[in-house]
Amino acid sequence: MEIVRSVAEAKELARAWRAAGLSVGLVPTMGYLHEGHESLMDAARAACDKVIVSVFVNPIQFGPDEDFDSYPRDLHRDVAICEAHGADAVFHPSVEDMYPAGFSTFVEVEGLTDALCGASRPGHFRGVCTVVSKLFNIVQPHRAFFGQKDAQQLAVIKRMVADLNMDVQVVGCPIVREADGLAKSSRNTYLDPQERQAALVLSRAIRAAEQAVCDGQHDAACVRAIIEGTIAAEPLACIDYVQVVDGLTMQPVKTIEDSVLVAIAVRIGTTRLIDNFIFEGEPTCS
Ligand code: AMP
Repeated sequence: MEIVRSVAEAKELARAWRAAGLSVGLVPTMGYLHEGHESLMDAARAACDKVIVSVFVNPIQFGPDEDFDSYPRDLHRDVAICEAHGADAVFHPSVEDMYPAGFSTFVEVEGLTDALCGASRPGHFRGVCTVVSKLFNIVQPHRAFFGQKDAQQLAVIKRMVADLNMDVQVVGCPIVREADGLAKSSRNTYLDPQERQAALVLSRAIRAAEQAVCDGQHDAACVRAIIEGTIAAEPLACIDYVQVVDGLTMQPVKTIEDSVLVAIAVRIGTTRLIDNFIFEGEPTCS
């Protein structure tokens, strides 16, 4: 497996793959890899001839008071995980190579970035769309793999790819959870044991909401109330948002029908965690 540290090298490697007629899969990450990332690599491995995993903590998607400096990093461990999951290359560029002096072009998706995480984290999706556009231009992958855990991000990237006629297939992959339900996240490492226990309230609330919808409760306000009630019972939890929205536009809905996203963001102490489920219609209920 190759470790590629410059934009120029990554371009050259991917160009050679494409020239050889090989399909290329890209898995964009911020590193500190876990089983959620591994599932994306496995999906890429199954669908593409060559798999490249980017490991880049992207400064421009963090707000000034957010955790860019403290975000967990361990390239050595990440490389071992990528190798074990059959990646062909890890792309780990420097901030200076990605954003050299004079950098001044940004990609902004309007409308569906106004709500949910976009409302709580101004500028976040502008940073995400800019870095993902750069990665797409550098690697020119046939397919790129993203987690449903970041449901709004997935919708925003799909919109961007369609709007800008980008020649890449965006593949969404299901949320991977710990055995007790907590959605895997690099930020889970911030939680102390008491907070780790309290964080279970997110998946508990999501499960309760999903069950209610599958049992026939299709009123968005009632489903939100179920989630809010569950979270209110956990003293260490503080709601950032609880939203029931159309899965494509991120606009609030009153009635839960097909392709509705139920999404939450909750602070446990100083750690902000997210979780969600998508209701695709009765047949998907177990
Ligand atoms: P991150 O490194 O947190 O920026 O995430 C990189 C990619 O992994 C994104 O597409 C995430 O949606 C995806 N991802 C993160 N956590 C999970 C998870 N628990 N299950 C599935 N995908 C995930």
